[in-house]
Amino acid sequence: MRGQHLTILGATGSIGGQTLDVIARSPERWSVHALTSHRDVEGLAAAARQVRPEVAVVADSGYASALRDALDAVGLTGISVAAGEQALAEVAAADETDIVVAGIVGAAGLRPVMAAAEAGKRLLLANKESLVMAGAVVMDAVRRGGATLVPLDSEHNALFQCLPSGYVTGESLPPGVERLTLTGSGGPFRQRSLATFASITPDEACRHPTWSMGRKISVDSATLMNKGLELIEACWLFRVAPAAVDVVIHPQSIVHSLVAYGDGSVLAQLAYPDMRTPIAHALAWPERVDAGVGRLDLAALARLDFEYPDDERFPCLRLAAQALEAGPGGPAVVNAANEVAVDAFLAGSLPFDAIARVIEGALFRAGNVAGALDFERVMALDAAGRQAAEAMLVADRGMSR
Ligand code: NAD
Ligand code: MG
Repeated sequence: MRGQHLTILGATGSIGGQTLDVIARSPERWSVHALTSHRDVEGLAAAARQVRPEVAVVADSGYASALRDALDAVGLTGISVAAGEQALAEVAAADETDIVVAGIVGAAGLRPVMAAAEAGKRLLLANKESLVMAGAVVMDAVRRGGATLVPLDSEHNALFQCLPSGYVTGESLPPGVERLTLTGSGGPFRQRSLATFASITPDEACRHPTWSMGRKISVDSATLMNKGLELIEACWLFRVAPAAVDVVIHPQSIVHSLVAYGDGSVLAQLAYPDMRTPIAHALAWPERVDAGVGRLDLAALARLDFEYPDDERFPCLRLAAQALEAGPGGPAVVNAANEVAVDAFLAGSLPFDAIARVIEGALFRAGNVAGALDFERVMALDAAGRQAAEAMLVADRGMSR
């Protein structure tokens, strides 16, 4: 078998870096066609030095010459440089690539995900925001393009592993599957006094108890919006109604999710909380390769705990379900509003406990979310969600003054 060629979108991030780590363990299996980043040209050059891609792309076209300089500085003069949103879509759809790792954070990941889906790639999806905002549109592109969508998000990858082999994402679940259970660690504030939530700092929110991740998803994990986004993600990946998906809090992050069958069996996937396991699984599937992850020692873990999530403490989980109920466009609005609120929190201009308020207000203000979606409509809803959230930020600042 010839080695497979990868495009790694978001190569300088947490998912991107861990993907590079996994492929370095099996160099005969994979080579890299393209690496991308937003603006981090030094990080991109360092990654390029490791895997020698054919193309390096910065999403912000203002950084094209800085990228050329950074590559030259590490002696990589032969690599093509491209820049801009269109270039991201091009490397995701290129004939030279077989596997696309979607590791961009946020709505910015949608266009290249669509391009990879339409081009029929094997699409390893970490960028959950694209499915949340545009699930129907992305899944339609996957079907039309003949792409293979393999979940990278640890919970969804676990569910995929626990479903019967031969199951294709986006299709109805096979008979006998009754429920899907997503686990979540509960984040850093599972036991923190609710009265102190307003004073939570960005660094506290990004100090996740079990996972090491980018800052946006770390905040999402702290508010539990991440679990809400994952609920919506699961509905699209596995074509189920939200009522068939439960969320259970599991602080140790060892059981990554579970599938319940009608005969009373429940299958779970267990591993240490290390994204290299789902990344290696999705890259090699249906084969298995070394991920560099330690072997699970159950006796050393001694116990695994489970509890129901606390809706009072974490209203974002409920907001995600509300977004689905509001109409097909609800999740796009909530996703956009969440991105605005998280940015404001990370910038120090919005208290932690106001994040949910901003999102809820934005969903209320953004206008009509009924009716079928297409790509343009999704982009319009994304813009409306951002605008409504900005308006909520202004209102919130007025209130806290
Ligand atoms: P990160 O912040 O560490 O990395 C994000 C990457 O996207 C970087 O390479 C950055 O340069 C690029 N990027 C950022 N903004 C961009 C833009 N506007 N245009 C183009 N590229 C842009 O984030 P991460 O933690 O790696 O998360 C990436 C995605 O994977 C998110 O959707 C997240 O929810 C999902 N995910 C991450 C983890 C994890 O463990 N990190 C686990 C599950 C799912
Ligand atoms: Mg996850």
